[in-house]
Amino acid sequence: MKERRADFPILNEKINGQPLIYLDSAATAQKPARVIAKIQDYYQHQNANVHRGVYTLSQAATDLYEGARDQVQTFINAANRAEVLFTRGTTESINWVATAYGPQHLQAGDEILVSYLEHHSNLVPWQVLARQTGAKLRYVALDEAGRLDLADLHHKLNPSTKIVALTHVSNVTGVINPIAQITNWAHQVGAVVVVDGAQAAPHLPVDVQALDADFYVFSGHKLMGPTGIGVLYGKKALLEEMQPVQYGGEMIEYVGLDEATFQPLPWRFEAGTPNIAGAIGLGAAIEYLRSIGMAQIAADEAQLTTYALNKLGAIEGLQIYGPTTGQDRTGVITFNLVGIHPHDVATALDQEGIEVRAGHHCAQPLMRYLGVTATVRVSLYLYNTAAEIDQLVAALVAIKEYFADDFT
Ligand code: PMP
Repeated sequence: MKERRADFPILNEKINGQPLIYLDSAATAQKPARVIAKIQDYYQHQNANVHRGVYTLSQAATDLYEGARDQVQTFINAANRAEVLFTRGTTESINWVATAYGPQHLQAGDEILVSYLEHHSNLVPWQVLARQTGAKLRYVALDEAGRLDLADLHHKLNPSTKIVALTHVSNVTGVINPIAQITNWAHQVGAVVVVDGAQAAPHLPVDVQALDADFYVFSGHKLMGPTGIGVLYGKKALLEEMQPVQYGGEMIEYVGLDEATFQPLPWRFEAGTPNIAGAIGLGAAIEYLRSIGMAQIAADEAQLTTYALNKLGAIEGLQIYGPTTGQDRTGVITFNLVGIHPHDVATALDQEGIEVRAGHHCAQPLMRYLGVTATVRVSLYLYNTAAEIDQLVAALVAIKEYFADDFT
C-alpha cells in the first residue's frame, strides 16, 4: 500500500540505479522506522541486563522485555504469558520441541506426520527424531492445486501418530492450511500438533486457542522485527512436562554443588542473557501490525495477490506453481518462465531494482514433488503496491523477449 511505504526507510534505497522494489518478504520483511527507533532507544536509554538487577535501569529493561512477551501473548491470543517462550526463531523453536518433547513421547513404531509442503526447518528435526527413536516419518500428499490432500491426511492419522508437524502457510506456494480442522482430527487420535507459523503470523490473524495448536512457532524478522528473535508458543501442560533445552544462568532457582532447581515457565527455557533488544524490537513490530490490524493486512494482501496472479498468469510461458486464485492463500507466488533458468530471471530483475528469490526455497522435497529443481518466488507484504506488480510484469515480459532473441 502506497501510504505505508513511507514507514519503511529502506524503500527509499536505489538498487542498480533503480528504485528498490522489494518482493522477498517471505525471506525476511523490511523494518518500519518505529521498530528501528525502538531498538536504538533501548540501547541508548534503557540498556541493562534483565531479571537480575534491583537497580532502576535493569528494572526498566526487564519491564520492556517482559512487556514484549505480553504483546506476543495478545498477538496470538495465548491463554497464559507463561506459554510464550522467546527463541532465536522458527528453526530454533521447532528444534526445541523436537529435542525436548520428542524423545519422551515417541517410541519405535510411532509415527510423525508431516507434509510435502514443509520448509527444511520443519522436516530435518523430525527426520533426526525419527531416526533417534525408531519412529516413522509419513508425508501427507498434495492435490493438483498444491494444497494438502485432506483425505490423505485424515487417512494417515491413526493411534500411532504422536506428532503432526505442519506449516500454517507454505513459503513456496502461499497456501493456507486449515489448521483448526487438522488439530481437531489429530487430537481425536491423541497426536499433538506443531504448527510452523513462520509465513502465517506476519500475514493473518492468528489465534492459537481457536486453532487449538499444541505448539505454534514463528520468527520475528518475517513480521518486521529484528533477526535473532522468535517465539515458541506451547500449551502450558505440555511445556511443563518438557525438560529445558539449555542450562545456565537466568533459568535456575537454586544451585547446589551437585544439582539445581529451575525457574517456572517461561524462564526455565530461557537460559543465559536473552536477546533483549530483539524481543523489544519484536514487540514494536507487533504494535505496528496491530495499529493497522491483522484482518486489514490480510484483506489488502489478498487483493494485491489476486491482482498479481491475474497479471502474472497472463504472461505466456509463465507457469505458476500452487493455487492460481487469490483464495485461501497469501502473497507468496512461485513460478517459472519456460526455458529460462530462475536464477537468470532473478538476476535480470535485480538489474531493474526488483528483488525476488530464486532457488529451492529450503523445500527440496516440495521441489521434487512439483517436478522442478528451482523456481522464482515473489512474496508480497503490506508495503507493496499494484504499481510495483506492473513493473515486475513489464520486466518479466522484457526478460522473456530478451532470452527468446538470444535463442533464435
Ligand atoms: N518455516 C517456514 C515456512 C519458513 O518460511 C521459514 C523461513 N524461510 C522457516 C521455517 C525458518 O525460519 P527461520 O530461518 O527464521 O528460523
